[in-house]
Amino acid sequence: MHTSVLRPLRHAALVAMASIMTMPTAAAAAAAPSAAEQPASPRRLAIAIHGGAGVIAREQLGADGGVAYRQGLEAALDAGYAVLEAGGSSLDAVTTAVRLLEDNPLFNAGRGAVLAHDGRAYLDASIMSGKDLSAGAVTGVTTVRHPIDLARRVMEDSPHVMLSGEGAEEFAGLKGLERVPNDWFITPTRRQQLDRVLQGRSAPRNELQGLGTVGAVAVDSRGDVAAATSTGGMTNKRWGRIGDAPIIGAGTYANNASCAVSATGHGEYFIRSVVAHDICALVEYKGWSLARAAKEVVQGKLVQRGGEGGIIAVDPQGHLVLEFNSPGMFRGLRDSSGRRMVGIYED
Ligand code: ASP
Repeated sequence: MHTSVLRPLRHAALVAMASIMTMPTAAAAAAAPSAAEQPASPRRLAIAIHGGAGVIAREQLGADGGVAYRQGLEAALDAGYAVLEAGGSSLDAVTTAVRLLEDNPLFNAGRGAVLAHDGRAYLDASIMSGKDLSAGAVTGVTTVRHPIDLARRVMEDSPHVMLSGEGAEEFAGLKGLERVPNDWFITPTRRQQLDRVLQGRSAPRNELQGLGTVGAVAVDSRGDVAAATSTGGMTNKRWGRIGDAPIIGAGTYANNASCAVSATGHGEYFIRSVVAHDICALVEYKGWSLARAAKEVVQGKLVQRGGEGGIIAVDPQGHLVLEFNSPGMFRGLRDSSGRRMVGIYED
């Protein structure tokens, strides 16, 4: 539905140009010729993804030591990057990456989402375009297979930004999105996690926080940035609790004037610190580099306030930042300078 049209010539040109691109630096920018003198230069393509931040116990990675997580991250990263490489938009790239992670039962989004107090999955997602500040979000969705698609439909096909619960489901029906029974989202692991918490048995912090939220940020060949985030929220949530992921400005934000950010972590802290917008605001109003702005918010403000988690971010020049204050964050990045990595712990 949101698949981009492949443009083979452009693709080949981008691949060829990628090999001669270098990291943009402040010094290079200062020495650069004026816009009028500048040849039409290729823009840097870049994408980053996350699969949640927190305390990642080695046991949680499974018998293969995390290979399945890494493969899931790589598949999403490469699918998103392929969209950019083919000349597709950053919006299509982040949608593609997040859809794959929603289908991967290891992550806390779509299938494999953490469970609420009543044993059901309630899903939240949001997406934003830095080009025109359009945005869409959904919360408390229970039957839509890809909540990120629904958020995108809200952005593109409705006059609203955020829909919740039954209304969001009704809108999904009107738009013909794929529906599944709520059981489809539920995995034995998430059931056990909820049971442990309900029985008051000591649960690792990550089980309470719902480790595994997913997100993506990207910049395309036109310099447009976009961000998307999708989650089941926190284990044992109740009373219609909504975290930061579907809140524009808290868990997701994108503006070509600064950057695109997707967050993961203890949502209540991220809402109060309006994390994603705060990072973009430091870049836009203070002229800080994305790296400095992200560090200030994630390692400074959030740590002081007790908020654990992390963010991924990209600016229109293609600088990627992955910053977290927790022991680990499932993450990956890829860009047209040839960089490609996935990681779990600090390394
Ligand atoms: N931020 C998500 C929430 O609070 C959870 C997470 O990212 O782990 O709903």
